[in-house]
Amino acid sequence: MSEHTRFGPAGVPPMFRLLGASTVDTPRLLREEGLDAFEYQGVRWGEKPQIKQQDAMRLGEEARKNDVRLSMHGSYYINLTGKRDVVEASKRRLIAAATAADWMGAYVMVFHTGFYGKFEKDYALKTCISALKEVSAEMKAQGLKVKLGPETMGRKFQVGSIDEIIAINQQVENTQLVVDWGHLHALHQGTFKTSDDMRKIAQKIEEQLGTQTLRSMHCHFSKIEFTAQGEKRHHTLDEAAFGPEFRLLAEVILDFGMHPTMICESPILDVDARKMKETLEQVMIEKQGNPKA
Ligand SMILES: [Zn+2]
Repeated sequence: MSEHTRFGPAGVPPMFRLLGASTVDTPRLLREEGLDAFEYQGVRWGEKPQIKQQDAMRLGEEARKNDVRLSMHGSYYINLTGKRDVVEASKRRLIAAATAADWMGAYVMVFHTGFYGKFEKDYALKTCISALKEVSAEMKAQGLKVKLGPETMGRKFQVGSIDEIIAINQQVENTQLVVDWGHLHALHQGTFKTSDDMRKIAQKIEEQLGTQTLRSMHCHFSKIEFTAQGEKRHHTLDEAAFGPEFRLLAEVILDFGMHPTMICESPILDVDARKMKETLEQVMIEKQGNPKA
């Protein structure tokens, strides 16, 4: 399979639902729109998969038939730094999501690692890493192949700065790098103003995790509103009052020869995913048109 940047929505687009489509129809409908990625949302799940195995397998078959890359977002109810019973329940939730992700053949199961709570940041990170090592070992023991995808987070009280996510990727086996650019923008109070601001993140990743990990990262993207605490709300790409601009990231994708899977988390999911794809194509044409590029 040739490697190229893929685009798709986080969850079934509202219009598909209005048309009476079910989750299993989603890969075909995305393909008809020119999209080729889909992040299944298991975000309200508890300690058991809340999709039947046969339905998950059918979704996976449809995705492969339509060449749509599947990922899955695991439960929001995860905190790997909390009290012992909270951590144990969080680990079971991660295993439940990974089990369903494997049924689908999803390549990564994305999740939010946890909260600092009353702990020092270093201690919180260490606690997360040791819990994730146990999850990774348990997944291996159960033969689960999906990768663990801890995501960069957008609020000051959440574990998930780019440095923390890099550290987890370095220390835990079977991880996939997941960068939410909107979250980073919100966490650092609107940091991405030029493509150089994003290039610095790409360079750091390349230095610490290598070129291959950089090029094949899994991304979330949308414009985002923030407060002093960080992320407040996701916005559409057309809203000029908010950042970051996808065009900045498109330049970095081309400069570094990246082929990420781009999951659009704007309120108009697939519509903005298509816009992102068009923007990347436009920037590509502009660069090729410039003999110095
Ligand atoms: Zn997320």
